[in-house]
Amino acid sequence: MNARSPDCAGLVIVGAGVLGCALARHLAVERGIRGIVLLEKEDAPGQHASGRNSCVAHSGFHLPPGSLKARVCIEGHRRLAAYCRERGLPFQRIGKLVVACDAAGQRHLPELAQRAAAHGLAGCRLVDRAAMLAIEPHIQGLAGFYSPHDGIFDAAQVVARLAEDARQAGVDVRLGTRVRHVRQGSARVALQLEQGGRSQTLQTKWMVACAGVQADWLAQQCGLARGLRMVPFRGEYFALAEARAKLVRGLVYPVFRPELPFLGVHLTRTVDGRALAGPNAVLAFGRESYRTGDVRWGDCAELLRSPNFWRMALRGDFLAVALGELWTSLSAQAFLDRARTLLPALQPGDLTPERAGNRAQLVDRQGRLVKDFLLAVQGRTAHVLNAVSPGFTSSLAFARLIARRLIVRGFFG
Ligand SMILES: Cc1cc2nc3c(=O)[nH]c(=O)nc-3n(C[C@H](O)[C@H](O)[C@H](O)COP(=O)(O)OP(=O)(O)OC[C@H]3O[C@@H](n4cnc5c(N)ncnc54)[C@H](O)[C@@H]3O)c2cc1C
Repeated sequence: MNARSPDCAGLVIVGAGVLGCALARHLAVERGIRGIVLLEKEDAPGQHASGRNSCVAHSGFHLPPGSLKARVCIEGHRRLAAYCRERGLPFQRIGKLVVACDAAGQRHLPELAQRAAAHGLAGCRLVDRAAMLAIEPHIQGLAGFYSPHDGIFDAAQVVARLAEDARQAGVDVRLGTRVRHVRQGSARVALQLEQGGRSQTLQTKWMVACAGVQADWLAQQCGLARGLRMVPFRGEYFALAEARAKLVRGLVYPVFRPELPFLGVHLTRTVDGRALAGPNAVLAFGRESYRTGDVRWGDCAELLRSPNFWRMALRGDFLAVALGELWTSLSAQAFLDRARTLLPALQPGDLTPERAGNRAQLVDRQGRLVKDFLLAVQGRTAHVLNAVSPGFTSSLAFARLIARRLIVRGFFG
């Protein structure tokens, strides 16, 4: 496949987050495909979810067996560790402890053990209070579940390296280039682009969109995902004061609530030796709005017109959770209280605001949160949707799976 002229590509990938970069790299480096253009509206790769996450390489023990997420996360974890090793990038296997702070939480622990066993993850185990304190002496809780496999990495370095690999293999990486409009024909896809205030058209034979929180409207322009709506949930992080960071050895999570796709405020270490608390899950006033005061009116109006959003928002159980999360965003004390359920030694003044990132969460017509990753294909375009956590861990395996599925459908020919 060859690009014939600067305004005609063989394949356009939209979005240089980790998925777009991993896919471009896989196709160019491992499959030798030429004529790939990678379009990114920001001035650098990985400026949205891929650069604003917990940097946890999830082993995948918590994921429902049989889901696409489980499949690509477990393989992706292995591939991410190997990639970091090969490239000399940091990757530390520091283990993850899931802590039950009450009897209700304790009841969920055996299910984690069953899922880990179903995934064949050896070494994962239920731990009583004494064993839990041997792993994390400063954590409070009744019992837990421990995985030795989970690790941490540097997301920014991984994305930058993937993009550079792709570029060196001939991918034309165009930063500062926004896709405004997509029109699909029988032999070509026409993309209306905006670059440096100028508008231009790019023709391509194939297009794959890995557009994160912008994924639904691109898919809808191609006749897909009409019943789905992006509802961005912001996750806010705080950095722990140095003296408290030392009290956290590995990754510490509360018991996950199976009805929510969010893992709850947790404590993580970073590869540069710090510790973070977060993220919460607050409804964001814009797809790319990262602060409470940052309101994107267009996005808000679109959300308020969506029946999907109202069906979700008016569900009693959801409303209670959402208000609780909002409170942790508005009140530093509320966030501290949440983090103290895991680490009681935290004191006022121990938490400093850090980054925030928005989840690319889709909601269906019934108001239910979509839980699994989706790959939707229509004609000459394919769209990755609902790439929420553990999308980063999964990226190298997911990119391969996307390539395989699309090749079977005749893409890239
Ligand atoms: C708070 C939070 C914590 C998380 N923690 C973890 C974790 O610990 N471990 C883990 O594995 N996963 C985690 N995730 C999930 C993970 O970060 C994402 O699944 C992953 O980064 C998704 O990558 P992406 O490439 O699909 O999206 P993104 O990184 O959002 O990239 C999409 C790109 O597309 C570009 N784009 C969009 N529209 C256009 C357009 N019209 N034209 C041109 N470019 C466009 C955007 O600018 C962006 O760069 C977390 C996510 C969040 C939000």
